[in-house]
Amino acid sequence: MSFYVIPTPDQASIPVRSGGAFPVRRVYCIGRNYAAHAVEMGHDPDREPPFFFQKNPDNLTSDGTFPYPSQSSDVHHEVELLIALKSGGRDIPVEQALEHIWGYAPCLDMTRRDLQGTAKKMGRPWEIGKAFEASAPTGPLESVAEVGHLDQGRISLQINGDTRQSGDLNQMIWKAPEMIAYLSRYFELAAGDVILTGTPAGVGPVDKGDVIDVEIDGLLPLQVKVT
Ligand code: MN
Repeated sequence: MSFYVIPTPDQASIPVRSGGAFPVRRVYCIGRNYAAHAVEMGHDPDREPPFFFQKNPDNLTSDGTFPYPSQSSDVHHEVELLIALKSGGRDIPVEQALEHIWGYAPCLDMTRRDLQGTAKKMGRPWEIGKAFEASAPTGPLESVAEVGHLDQGRISLQINGDTRQSGDLNQMIWKAPEMIAYLSRYFELAAGDVILTGTPAGVGPVDKGDVIDVEIDGLLPLQVKVT
């Protein structure tokens, strides 16, 4: 007899390029972290304090598919760089924040834009638009030891071969160390936490059958088919 009264849920994880898997504890996502995307969503790109929402660890998938979700007819792609933490803590100084990063992966913050829009209008939380099944297809994770720290380089997304999003990691309003430091003032960060670092301009809808190609300089590409 196991100690637990029901079967234990699977540990969410991200495959690692060099072998094995990274276990995921929490998923933090920053909103509006590229000025051009803030503008396209109707907001002022000035450097307001950052804000975060969360997805669920088991929303991260890596089977190369994105099943079109229920209850939406306007599902958008957002290409993002994912940061994976090997350690954490509270009140982490900006100068020490990079030491907590284990590695990086390409990721998609798939969004039920219609449901998110209703939630925004009514002052409701965003989970229904953001934290649904398979809402974060994620590429293989690569370690800092192998790829270094990614603070510049092209980040882009194609749908069926057409470029829809293209930016540079150096256009982030809040940089990786600042995001880690900021989050650690409000939450206790720990090994296994990941951060989705925001999307450049050009978000838009996907349809069943689309092939999404994500490229981030320094990382393996990610391809996802909408099913
Ligand atoms: Mn996003």
